[in-house]
Amino acid sequence: MARIELKNIVKKYGDGFPAVNDVSLDIADGEFVILVGPSGCGKSTLLRMIVGLEDISDGDLLIDGERVNDLAPRDRDLAMVFQNYALYPHLTVGENIAFPLRLNHSKVPEAEVRERVQRAADMLELNEHLDRKPANLSGGQRQRVAMGRAIVRDAKAFLFDEPLSNLDAKLRGQMRTEIARMQRSLGTTTVYVTHDQTEAMTLGDRVAVLRKGVLQQVASPRELYEQP
Ligand code: ADP
Ligand code: ADP
Repeated sequence: MARIELKNIVKKYGDGFPAVNDVSLDIADGEFVILVGPSGCGKSTLLRMIVGLEDISDGDLLIDGERVNDLAPRDRDLAMVFQNYALYPHLTVGENIAFPLRLNHSKVPEAEVRERVQRAADMLELNEHLDRKPANLSGGQRQRVAMGRAIVRDAKAFLFDEPLSNLDAKLRGQMRTEIARMQRSLGTTTVYVTHDQTEAMTLGDRVAVLRKGVLQQVASPRELYEQP
């Protein structure tokens, strides 16, 4: 778990208008923040800067009070789940989930890798599918594997980039419930990008509204969606 502080964060790609413009947001330890806004407003860019996949042009990013602008992604210890799942097709479900623990720098003993994969699989009901390849899974199962790979690491925070947008409505509802349950039981700080108003209303402690790179409003779902 971690506190994540964005202080006047700016992202410029080339000379154009900043993709993210002076965004400040203090995300509390264990908080679930939803990020919404029209396509192209800078949501993905913001997530990618937090996780370290994109350089920050200006401003400070603090994790638990430490400035991490120049820290490599793996040293930030955050887990990102992408819209397209980004699974390794040649690896089994178990190997996909275990992957972050088997990278050279992680140095997790194999017995513990197995135990942690097992725990993640239990939580996500993937036990019967550990030996299958992603190609043989449903969309919902693939999404669970992507989440398994995130939770197996005991990351300080989860960053979700529209994780359910490729699923049909029924599965989306089911996965929404599972994500809510998972986040409650783990208590992991979460930033979650979505287009879906139901997700924004039901999952988050707070909703942050981004427009043209500028943070326009931060409010509870109730304040944002249920005001007269
Ligand atoms: P969102 O996730 O809200 O759809 P993005 O963060 O993907 O928005 O994009 C924000 C803005 O930054 C857009 O105008 C987009 O075209 C631009 N952008 C995103 N990635 C790049 C890139 N690698 N190079 C140049 N411009 C980019
Ligand atoms: P291998 O057993 O050769 O490592 P697998 O594809 O069977 O390859 O499994 C990859 C990883 O997934 C295992 O190391 C383990 O961490 C996890 N895993 C696979 N199957 C199981 C299982 N039945 N119970 C617990 N963990 C499993």
